[in-house]
Amino acid sequence: MKLRLTTRRLELRHPWTIARGTATHKEYAFVELESGGVRGLGEAAHNVRYGESLDGIVDFLEGTRPLLEDAEPWRFRVVGDRVRALAPGMNAAKAAVDMALLDGWGKEAGVPLHRWLGADPGAAPATSYSIGIDSPEVVEEKVREAGDFPVLKVKLGAGDDRARIEAVRRVTDRPLRVDANEGWTDREEAAGEVEWLADRGVELVEQPLPAHRLDDVAWVRERSPLPLVADEDVTPEVRLPELTGAYDGINVKVAKVGGVLPALRLIETARHLGLRVMLGCMVESSLGITAAAHLAPLVEWADLDGALLLRDDPFRGVTYDEGRLVLPDGPGLGVEAV
Ligand code: MG
Repeated sequence: MKLRLTTRRLELRHPWTIARGTATHKEYAFVELESGGVRGLGEAAHNVRYGESLDGIVDFLEGTRPLLEDAEPWRFRVVGDRVRALAPGMNAAKAAVDMALLDGWGKEAGVPLHRWLGADPGAAPATSYSIGIDSPEVVEEKVREAGDFPVLKVKLGAGDDRARIEAVRRVTDRPLRVDANEGWTDREEAAGEVEWLADRGVELVEQPLPAHRLDDVAWVRERSPLPLVADEDVTPEVRLPELTGAYDGINVKVAKVGGVLPALRLIETARHLGLRVMLGCMVESSLGITAAAHLAPLVEWADLDGALLLRDDPFRGVTYDEGRLVLPDGPGLGVEAV
């Protein structure tokens, strides 16, 4: 296979704020693996939260050339695992290679990825639509822009959380999910917020406390009327059995765990352990979002709206019908450049 690597800066529609900070644009590395005229595509949406940078991602991908040159897409499992073993971290880059391998193999075989997974596209859940951290006035405006998405995911954890939820409730009575992004600092605060949220039509709370505070999360969970979902506590190195006492579910992101195949392994392990599963995303184009969407029929909750935050999405793939994910039926990822 021949590796082609490009980088691209994409502007966001609006500044995007979560508990950790604000972004106005994102930078991506895109991977193309060409073999016998077939081109598999992948996207690396890096995340500084996990120690990734665009330069680091590009260096890592350059280092995969010798391994990929000798490989063919149908060996996606072993090649993907070898790439993942090259260095610790760099999961966004590993995910890009994994996507490109699966896309190339699917195109060669003429099979859409969800069909290889045995996933019924009609069973994909509706995705939530994310509302970032803004003033109550802007939050009201964003909720009005949410169109017909049936569930909203509200980012909290940066102070004034209750004012923002009240702003959302002035506009809609739709069910809400809440993501604190590690923003609450102690277990008493977290338990108090969760209890308050439970009376306001919130159906789950994601990552209430900083990662690696499982004992504190377990304490909150004992008092929580709502399911708690781990996100920053879920990394490729996670030992899922250790999360079962603290959390009811996990948020699996393809870019964070190093690809579609590692995500599938986590989903299956989570089910085995009785953990519920959300499929999440970074702010990424329709290439990365669609790769994840093929897994959506296998999970309970989807949060796959990252491409909607971009001003100019360079790809076309999964679409939305009143929030329900409509998977493309072309071979591989079924994604086309716009
Ligand atoms: Mg999250």
